[in-house]
Formats: sequence, C-alpha cells, structure tokens
Amino acid sequence: MSDTKYLYDMSEGDATMRTVLGGKGANLAEMKRLGIPVPDGFTVSTAACVATMEAHGEWPEGLWDDVQTALARLEERTGRTLGGAEKPLLLSVRSGAVFSMPGMMDTILNLGVSDETVEVLGAEADNPRFAWDSYRRFVQMYGEVVEGVPPHLFEDELTALKADRGVSQDTELSTEDLKALVATFKDVARRELGRDLPSDPREQLRRAIDAVFRSWDTPRARVYRKANDIPDDLGTAVNVMQMVFGNRGETSATGVCFTRNPSTGVHELYGEFLVNAQGEDVVAGIRTPRPLAEMQEVLPEAYEQLLATMRDLEAHYKDMQDIEFTVEEGTLYLLQTRSGKRTAAAALKVARDMVEEGVLTREEALQRVAPSQLDQLLHPAIDPDHGKTPVTKGLPASPGAAVGALVFDADTAAERGHAGEPVVLVRYETTPDDIHGVIGSQGVLTAHGGMTSHAAVVARGMGKPCVAGAQGIRISTSEKTLTVGDRVFNEGDVITLDGSTGDVYGEALELVPPQINEDFSAIVGWADEVRRLGVRANADTYEDATKARELGAEGIGLCRTEHMFMAADRLPAVRDMILAETAEDRAEALERILPMQQQDFEGIFTAMKGLPVTVRLLDPPLHEFLPDLVEQSLLVQRLELTGGDADEIAAARQLLGQVKRLHEQNPMLGTRGCRLAMLYPEIPEMQTRAIIRAALAVREREGETAGVEIMIPLVAYSSELKAQREIVERAVAEELEATGEQLDVTVGTMIELPRAAIVADQIAEHADFFSFGTNDLTQTGIGISRDDAEGGFLSAYVADEVIPKNPFESIDRDGVGGLVRLGAEGGRRTKPELKLGVCGEHGGDPASIAFFEELGLTYVSCSPFRVPIARFAAARAVL
Ligand code: ADP
Ligand code: MG
Ligand code: MG
Repeated sequence: MSDTKYLYDMSEGDATMRTVLGGKGANLAEMKRLGIPVPDGFTVSTAACVATMEAHGEWPEGLWDDVQTALARLEERTGRTLGGAEKPLLLSVRSGAVFSMPGMMDTILNLGVSDETVEVLGAEADNPRFAWDSYRRFVQMYGEVVEGVPPHLFEDELTALKADRGVSQDTELSTEDLKALVATFKDVARRELGRDLPSDPREQLRRAIDAVFRSWDTPRARVYRKANDIPDDLGTAVNVMQMVFGNRGETSATGVCFTRNPSTGVHELYGEFLVNAQGEDVVAGIRTPRPLAEMQEVLPEAYEQLLATMRDLEAHYKDMQDIEFTVEEGTLYLLQTRSGKRTAAAALKVARDMVEEGVLTREEALQRVAPSQLDQLLHPAIDPDHGKTPVTKGLPASPGAAVGALVFDADTAAERGHAGEPVVLVRYETTPDDIHGVIGSQGVLTAHGGMTSHAAVVARGMGKPCVAGAQGIRISTSEKTLTVGDRVFNEGDVITLDGSTGDVYGEALELVPPQINEDFSAIVGWADEVRRLGVRANADTYEDATKARELGAEGIGLCRTEHMFMAADRLPAVRDMILAETAEDRAEALERILPMQQQDFEGIFTAMKGLPVTVRLLDPPLHEFLPDLVEQSLLVQRLELTGGDADEIAAARQLLGQVKRLHEQNPMLGTRGCRLAMLYPEIPEMQTRAIIRAALAVREREGETAGVEIMIPLVAYSSELKAQREIVERAVAEELEATGEQLDVTVGTMIELPRAAIVADQIAEHADFFSFGTNDLTQTGIGISRDDAEGGFLSAYVADEVIPKNPFESIDRDGVGGLVRLGAEGGRRTKPELKLGVCGEHGGDPASIAFFEELGLTYVSCSPFRVPIARFAAARAVL
C-alpha cells in the first residue's frame, strides 16, 4: 500500500496545488481561503485517477473508504445527509484537470435527489417544481454520463413533451410535467440498459466518481489534449461539492463571466446568465443566455457582489479570469475561476494593459502570451471594403475570418479539412464531441448557444473563428442544408464567417493580409530585450527580404538560389547550361545566367544592407529544371506519330536523352548540393561572381551593402567543403582583384547529413559558419522521405501516437536534435567561436526554438511571416 494522499477537504488546498487537485479544485480551495462564497466540498486527487488508470479501472485500495469519510465530514459540516429523508445533501461531481479542458470531461449535478428525497427537497424549498426539475436533470445527466445512455434519447423525450405542451422553454414545464418526465427518463434508461438505474446515492456517487475518471480518456478529451499539447498521463481530479441551486425560481440564476473581453481584451463587462437555470444550460449551450448587464436589473445585489468579486479575483491572480457563478435565492456563489482562455489579440492587449496598469512586469507579461497565439494574428482578415451584405448574423463568439465549404458534421469536417480543403462546420450547437471537426475546419457556425458556451471557449482558445447562436438559420443535417429566409445552401457551398462581428456571408469574401497592431509590436519589442538567439529570415526575393526586415529579421539565414534558376526568363539559359555538351557551351550559358543572378542578389542585398545574408549555392538536382521524364517521352512519341517538324523532333529527342541521363531513383539522395558543384565547378564559380558583383554594385549605389556569407549545401565530407571553398575563394579573389575593391566574405556549410554532424569537427576546419538544415537532416537522420511520408504513414504515426509530433514541424529532440547537438559540439571543438544557425521549418517553431536555445546556437532562420513568432519564442525560451 502506498501512503499517497487521495482525498483533500476543500479547506486543505490552495492555488499552488493544481497538479494534485486539478485547476478547478485548487482554485475553489483558493477562493474559499480568500473568503469568497464557494459551496463546501472535497477533492479526489489526480493521483487517484492515475492509479486507477494504471490498474485498468481498479480503484486504489482505501480510496472508497477515504471518499466515505470525507463525505461524512462534509455531511457533518453542512448538517445534511446524502440520501437523507430529512435535509438531504445534494452534490455535484466535477472533473477538473491540471490544464483546463473546457467541457471535454464529465460532470454530474444534483446527485442525491431520489424518490426518497425529492419531496423533502421540494417541501424544504417550498418549491416542488424546483425539486422535480433537479430530479429530471439528475436522471438525464447521470444516465448519460455515468451509464452511457445515448443523450438524444432523453433530449427527444424532452422535446416531445415541450411540443405536446406547446411550450418552447424547459422553464415553462409544470411540476406535473417534470414528474412525468422523470418517470419517462427512467423508462428510457431501463429500456436502454435492461435494468434500473441504481437508486442508492452512495452507489451513484461511487459510480459518478468513476465515470469522471473514465472521462479523462474519451476520444474528445484525447483530441483536445493532442491539439493543445497536454500530456495523456496526468489524469483528472474529481471535485465533490454541495449543490447550490440556480433553478430555485426567479431570484435564482446561473452564469459565466470574464473579467475582460476574451475576444478583444478590452476591460469591460463580458458575461451571460440565465434566470431559473443550472450551469449546464449556459456552458453546454442548451439555452441561449442573456447578456450579463441585464442581471443588474433582475438581481441587483448579487450583481454588485459579482462585480466586486470579479475585481478581487483578477487582482489576486493577476490575470484575466473566467468565472462560473450561481445565485440561489439572491445569494451569490462562485463555482469556478480559472485563467480565461482568450484570443491572440486579447492575450496581447491584456498583457500590455496589465503592464501599464502596473499589475505585471514585462517579463511576466511575455509569459502570459503563447507563441502559437502570435501565429493566429498573422492570419488574413476580411477585406474591410468588401461592400457585401451578410445573409444573417449571430454572436461574435471568436474573431477572425473563415471562408470555406459548408459541412454539416464533424467527421466530414475533419476528413475534408485535413485533406486540405477549407471547410466551415455548421451545427445546431456544437458539443465537445465535435472537437475534431472544429480542429479540421476554418471556422464554426452554430444556430444555438452563447458566447460563453464551451464551443465558443474552445474556438477562441484555438483561434478558430466562430459565430454562435445565429438564430436566423435553419439546419437540416439529414438533407445537409442550411436555410436562411428563402435561401437554401447545400453542403459544399462556400460561405464566409466574420467571427469579429458575427456576420455570415453566402459567398467567399476577399481576405487581406493581417495587420500587425501596436500591441503586437510592443510585446515582440519586449521580447527583443530578453532573447539571446538571433532571428533571421529565409528569403530569396527583394520583396520577401523587405518584408522580413520590416518584421524584425536581423539578416537572411537562407537565401535559396534555385528559385532564381526556375523563373521563366531564366529557364532557357539554365536548360542550355544543363544540355551543354562542351565546356565552352556551358560557359556561354552560364555567362547569360550570371547577370540575371546578379540582379536578383542586388535586390536582396539592397533590402538587407547592413545585415548578413547567407546565400546558399545551387542545391536541387538538375533534373528539376528539365521536363518530367514521362511527359517528355510522350511528347516525343506524339511528335513522331504526327510526323512533326524534323528539327523539333530532334530537339525533343535530345532533351529526352538528357532527362533520361539525369534521371535518378532517389534524387533527394542523388546528385545535388555540393555533389553537383563538384561535377560542374563552373556553377559555384558563376554564382560566386554574381554574388560579389552584386554586393559591390549595391555598395557603390547605396553606400552600404549586405554582409556576404556563402554557404555550401549537402556537405558530407570535409574534403567536399575544402574543394568548394577553394573554388569560391578563387572567384572572390579574382572579382576583387579585377575591381580593386575590398569585401569581407565568409564561407560556411549546411549541416544536413548525419555524417556531417558526426564529423563536424573536421568540417569546421574549412567553415566560417554552420547552418543546420533541419529539413534534410530530419529526412536523412530518421530516414523518412518528407514528400512521401506526409499524409501516409507519418500521419498515422502521429494519430496513433507512435511518435508525439510530426518531426518535420517540430524537431525530434532525441534523434535529429541529437545530431544537431553533435554537430554543434564538434564544430565548436574545432572553432569555439563558430557561428551556428538553423534554417528549415524548425527555425520558426517555438518548441524547436526552445531546444536550439538550450544548445546555445547563434541564430534561427525562418520564413518572413514567422519572424515575430521566432523573436517572441526566443525570448520565452530564456524566461
Ligand atoms: P465543465 O468543466 O464542463 O465546465 P463543471 O464541473 O464546471 O464542468 O460543471 C458544469 C457546470 O455545472 C458549472 O458551470 C456550474 O454552473 C454547474 N455546477 C457545478 N457544480 C455545481 C454546484 N455545486 N452547484 C451548482 N451548480 C454547479
Ligand atoms: Mg466549468
Ligand atoms: Mg537541404
């Protein structure tokens, strides 16, 4: 037997204990400590859930005894008894993970109401309707969550009864209706389960706790964790609390509020409530709630008290709070507080405002923003001058623009979305089970539910635009149609959502590039004061280089030259070069390419003057510049069959011969990078001349030029680099001699093959810098072809958790990361001051950046739009 403590009374906990008590339990305990009214209770620790999972569902020894003694203490403190014929105690049994997962796990309310207690409960409250309302809610929730009765069976009965009584709201049902409903619900459960629901509240409690444990492992919870990088082995705590009742009539209510607007970050009232209801009605989006401001009129005292509590909680936690509350006959209770999920724009605004308000230091503020949130801000927005009229409007539940084809179920959204098609998921209301569809879609539209529903919270957290509660739409999931007025939309029709206004458009609207606002610039500016890693961009045009510089790039870490070879006006010369049969012909073709290359470099050096630019010499295999083998064969055949022009046929045949000659089975492991340059030294020589001429021309014209760094790709042997370096240095020397100019030029190499990482100390002898080409290093290090694997086994590996993440998106720390570490150590053994950069997708990935910081690399380089994220992530990596 272990001596792990599984049970905590609420008075034993505080906010620092979230690993043990879960976020909800820790914060409930903290509120209690602060003297905020919270119903009493106890928490079953996450350790109990973990132990249960490890024992395949078997509770650890002593846990049930612990629960019973904790319950006895609670009964003692409240003066009530679970299942008691007098003063019955009613409980809520609530999940509560270490990291909040809104609505993904289960909660059971009103546990303790039964045939034995329902009448007393009604008499005590002098409100039998309330007692029966609680009872029908209990049977429904318990049946669904604990016993697994399909939810729609209850929902259908409820809908049928309302229709029969000619009412639209649950609150309009009478006591007798509710009594009948309880009986019907029990029948439904009996039919479905082949037995009665257990009637002993203690047994129900045991099963409810067990159900909450199990809800840790529901598919939706797994999907949510995966999308939010939450480990699967943490388990959930279970909070058992006395119920307070928002459904005790017109002076009772329940609601959710945020201390600031979670969409925009503005410090203003934001919340919703419902009179005569329980919390699930609001958070699960069952009824569309009313704006919080209206509570001032209905329940003025509780309202004022709520505002004061909101202020206190925010000041205490120094962060925006998301709060659940219930008012029972005029008395306010807090049921939950947590750091509020917010959009990226709101995160930045709140962080910045709180620094200005003197609540947070800059460094603390940086820690309140996730790097992935900056990413969200870099997405396109609806063109403000679109001049189109919306077809309908809902609540602006999560901002941003979504353009996509309508789909009506989450599976289709997930499938088509992941296949790369932009889709918009339309649902009557979204339930947590739709989470995979939300992830796969551009945005979500619902007919039902408010802005504090779980669907809205989750959408905001993921940066998915969401329009909720669009009451003007009618949805038929069977017909797959969306009807607005007399307009009918079918699956596949394209619509646009504006999550910032709630507008819905029946067509695709134009999007414009994102606008980086002042909050964004301010926060990233603070990041620059903190970070150690340099941030450069991957850019190979004047435009990209200019954009990168605007976004704060401190140079170019990777300028690929192959795009300059691909451009339509270059391709003929490039092909002539490849097809050249003699050295003279080749030299002549290169002579034509040189000025074009020079022109490109001039643009880039102008954009980057004063900053370093790493130019990588030609990397791809030559066949990429030639037609496809199959197509060229077909062309030759066609020309022969149709008896085409003899010269034309000859030319096509010659080209085909060359395509065949250059064809390789594994071009990515073939004649490319420096291997090509070893075969055709004229190419690196020409490129070097173009680079030097460009640098000098820019200096001449602008008074200043970029720092020239020439980089040799795909080096495996130090002898390759030695030979290439000689070619480059000779060309540099000749160019400078011819002009009588001086220019500092450094020569380095990519480290993108395992062999290079292993012999990095030898390679460093000939290198002024290394740049880890982590894309190729991932391909060659793991032995995965990126082009073939993605969508294939790699996606399955990620889905099945064979590997935690796609290694092309986030560095494989142990494997490929180990090679980077080897390379860095080897290089610095030979040259302690060796500059070490990273280019490749990983240079813009926050998790990878944290790893590169650990290794003490010099800089990362990423695409221009990711530069601000990299600057920010680099700061987060040292905090
Ligand atoms: P979730 O994590 O899905 O939000 P919760 O455990 O917070 O689940 O419960 C959902 C809702 O149930 C809460 O928003 C709250 O309104 C209501 N609730 C939970 N516990 C109680 C309680 N003790 N008394 C009254 N309502 C409760
Ligand atoms: Mg909650
Ligand atoms: Mg490469």
